[in-house]
Amino acid sequence: MKRILIVEDEPEIREMIRFTLEPRGYVLSEADNAQDARRLLGKHAYDLILMDWMLPGRSGLEFTKEIKQKNQKSSPPIIMLTARADESDKVEGLDSGADDYITKPFSPRELAARIKAVIRRNSHIEQALSLEFNGLYIDPVQHLVTLQGDPANLSPAEYNLLYFFMSHPDRAYTRSQILDKVWGDNAYVEERTVDVHIRRLRKILTPSGHDAYIQTVRGVGYRFTPTKQKHV
Ligand code: CA
Repeated sequence: MKRILIVEDEPEIREMIRFTLEPRGYVLSEADNAQDARRLLGKHAYDLILMDWMLPGRSGLEFTKEIKQKNQKSSPPIIMLTARADESDKVEGLDSGADDYITKPFSPRELAARIKAVIRRNSHIEQALSLEFNGLYIDPVQHLVTLQGDPANLSPAEYNLLYFFMSHPDRAYTRSQILDKVWGDNAYVEERTVDVHIRRLRKILTPSGHDAYIQTVRGVGYRFTPTKQKHV
């Protein structure tokens, strides 16, 4: 059961969100301003906050900053609802600490998909699930990687890179996206550093044939494709 806090001053939009999410099993709380939302946040733990940008009184943007600063890493993920399609506003929204944004008007289906994705992404970080693909195994609790049962020796960067790939299979990422996700937004790391670490990671995975899972996507970057079998 996932609990979501909606901070939105327009009743019609709150209603639309409720009709979308309640049948999908989410438990909802609603506030139409930052003050009421603050009170609810003190009472319950939430899995996600849907935050309207334009709120009366304290704006959604300011309130997002406040929540993220106060709670640091333990804050629930925040999806910002915005009527502004402008690119610079989106950047500002994400800079405030929001995890994603949805531009109004949005469809119920889009809303449900984005919520699911953000909650899933967040729970990967929190619970740090162990993952396995055909004998390639990674266990974040033990910080252990095994290849067909044999422990592999990875540097922290290679380990983080592999965990990122294994938790996001079958999706192509640019070098810059990989840097963001694995090294963090503020890392002063050049894009070709990604290539260096990919090369090392492939070398480590070669004895078991799992190097074939890390594929170069021409003109884009890299993709982890665990179905690609290479027999050794
Ligand atoms: Ca509003």
